Amino acid sequence: MAAASVVPDIAGGIPAIDHHSHASMSKARTVEQIERSFATAHLEANVPHAVYLAYIAARNAGDDATLARLDAEHGTEALMQAGLAFRSTTFFTRALKEGFSRLYGSGGGHGDPATLAATARDWAAKGPSFAYDRAITIANTPIVLTDIPFIDRTTWDATHYRQIARIDPYLYPFHSGEPPGRGTEFQRFHGGFANILAAELKRYGLDRPPADFDAYLQFVDASVQRRLGEGAIGLKIVSAYVRSIDFDPATYADASAVYAALASGRPVPGTPMENFIVRRLAQHAADNGIPMQVHVGMGHPEPGMRVANSAPFLLEKLLDTPSLNRLRVCLLHGGYPFSSHVAALAQTYGNVFVDFSWMPYLHHYYLRTKLAEWLEILPANKLLFGTDTSAPEFHVAAARYAREALNHVLHDGHARGVWDAKQVEWLARRILFENTAEVYGIEAAAG
Ligand SMILES: [Zn+2]
Repeated sequence: MAAASVVPDIAGGIPAIDHHSHASMSKARTVEQIERSFATAHLEANVPHAVYLAYIAARNAGDDATLARLDAEHGTEALMQAGLAFRSTTFFTRALKEGFSRLYGSGGGHGDPATLAATARDWAAKGPSFAYDRAITIANTPIVLTDIPFIDRTTWDATHYRQIARIDPYLYPFHSGEPPGRGTEFQRFHGGFANILAAELKRYGLDRPPADFDAYLQFVDASVQRRLGEGAIGLKIVSAYVRSIDFDPATYADASAVYAALASGRPVPGTPMENFIVRRLAQHAADNGIPMQVHVGMGHPEPGMRVANSAPFLLEKLLDTPSLNRLRVCLLHGGYPFSSHVAALAQTYGNVFVDFSWMPYLHHYYLRTKLAEWLEILPANKLLFGTDTSAPEFHVAAARYAREALNHVLHDGHARGVWDAKQVEWLARRILFENTAEVYGIEAAAG
């Protein structure tokens, strides 16, 4: 890579669309609260598993008495502190601190932690979107796609925040949520899916999934249609957290038989039914020009997801379906650790795109090496900038680090004779704004 001292600010003045975020998903949290929520793996690996489950349940319920008892018996707080100390060298922690001081420093804090924290509390009190609105101004990200089941339009401006709707809640109508292994991620995702499904069923006067598969499919179609009609501009699959993403072909007869068995309480594998619904909704999206995001690659730093279930090549049978050739598929997070695999898919299939959200605040060096690799092999319309943040602090940091990474990689490629000066600027605009605008049909007039 070229020397850092002479890198021009190619990406600096270019507005960006955040292709993947969770804006409006979480309440205001302190830096310590955010760090603690991602630092549980060390605790999980050092207490009996049942103790860990009890700890997370008590934490989620705000049950301080139980937390105190677990600490007295198992030293849970010392283990959490050790986990936090070990994570202090991750780029995540660096980025969070950077975003915190840039966001709240813009309110006049200038680096003093107590003043910054006071600004953070002040902004949190001004309402759920206040800090995020400030973050997108600082980050020059006028449009943010947010993966969120419901967005309160009295607070979250519809021009800036565009919704992405998950289809996963429709795939598991009778799932127990019983985890196959360690941790709490699997049951947390299933719990979320079950809550959304219950809320959607209620809208159609149902207190449980109908006994009949056709009636269920009618409900699913109506629910997805309504959410798209209410403003969702894309669909998303996050099921890598709970199962393999190889959505193999499945017949209506097989899916219907599975549904009938599950509806009557007979435990059979749900996979054929899940696959049938995924493919049916993918076809609907393809036929109606709705893009689909798919989580590929690793999950959160806690056991629960099987990383092998998230491997991008598992999607090949779905991608190779002739009737889905015009479904625009956006593979999320650069697919780490399968980041070259996602590029292989994107260069093979003209309808597949690579989002590198999450990476700007997890990876510093690796993102630069991957951007250089991706940009050389992929056409200019393939890469999509994103942040993957529900915390506005991370939004600011991610946008900054992504632009810095683009500056380095584009400048370096120019110096090596890969791109001329015009191409370098064009690529920056494509990656930050135009590619996502094109994929989703977003008018470029925002800003
Ligand atoms: Zn995400």
